[in-house]
Amino acid sequence: MPDKAHGIANFEDKIIDGRKIAAYIESSLKEKVDYLKNSGIIPCIYVILIGNDPASVIYVKNKENAANRCGIMSKKIIIPVNISESELLNKINELNNDSLVHGILVQLPIPLHIDENKIMEAISPDKDVDGFHPFNEGKIFTGNSSFYPCTPFGIIKMLDYSNIELKGKNVVIIGQSIIVGKPLSIMLMNRNATVSVLNIHTKNIKCWTKMADVLISATGKAHLIDESFVKDGCVVIDVGIAKLNGKICGDVNFDSVIQKVSKITPVPGGVGPVTVAVLMENTVNAALQFLTNS
Ligand code: NAD
Repeated sequence: MPDKAHGIANFEDKIIDGRKIAAYIESSLKEKVDYLKNSGIIPCIYVILIGNDPASVIYVKNKENAANRCGIMSKKIIIPVNISESELLNKINELNNDSLVHGILVQLPIPLHIDENKIMEAISPDKDVDGFHPFNEGKIFTGNSSFYPCTPFGIIKMLDYSNIELKGKNVVIIGQSIIVGKPLSIMLMNRNATVSVLNIHTKNIKCWTKMADVLISATGKAHLIDESFVKDGCVVIDVGIAKLNGKICGDVNFDSVIQKVSKITPVPGGVGPVTVAVLMENTVNAALQFLTNS
């Protein structure tokens, strides 16, 4: 959360508090987890961590902590960075065939000698709690996927929680990755928003961003967006995670835009915690699907 030393304490009502929304999502899982436990099932997620990239280690730890809070069993497999693609595929296959495992997640990024697409496709769609399997991503088009990717789904939940109407709104997304921008654009279209997706090659991005009622930035470029990019009253969702002068920050220069925006997510404490909470929700739903089908 922003600190008062920056003189922005008065803007607290503009902040979309990701930690609060994550806590709400997590607490709403309790009933389902209790039901599963009474039926003899403990929801279980396996996280595969390849190597020891410091950021990935922190993300995996955050997921473990959230699982513990929710009553989900969380197991971690740490694999050396020189693992071969076939060894990793074998590991995934073992987990696919283990009926006690409901969710499988391979922490990204993975080493370059391994084909990321092959790994995502190897995870059983029924256990694809990250929502990256092409089967689940394809089902986003019809709006009935079992597992929506955690960050885009988390963003939709944050907008809903904050009562921000999407129908008829100009939504501009900066960044078109397969894990954020692309699936999110479809999910927003399913809500009848008018969506523009920008990328590094887009000419004069300000022309686009200044038309945005809702601006979602997912580039990882620290403080790419300042007040000259946003119109008055814009809602800003900052997905980016970067470092500036040794401190974690987002794509958006918070202090610069805060006067103009109507709502904004901080970094840290914005999209990140909600992404993890949605992962927990997907894991519980995977366990419920297992129970229904068994
Ligand atoms: P990526 O590198 O796969 O994609 C970045 C996208 O941004 C690309 O489409 C690129 O064309 C675009 N881009 C980069 N610079 C640009 C510029 N100057 N102008 C316009 N477009 C530009 O990244 P990603 O995996 O989508 O992640 C993006 C950021 O979001 C990273 O900082 C990542 O750490 C963060 N992230 C956060 C969460 C979370 O839970 N908070 C989840 C996923 C990603």
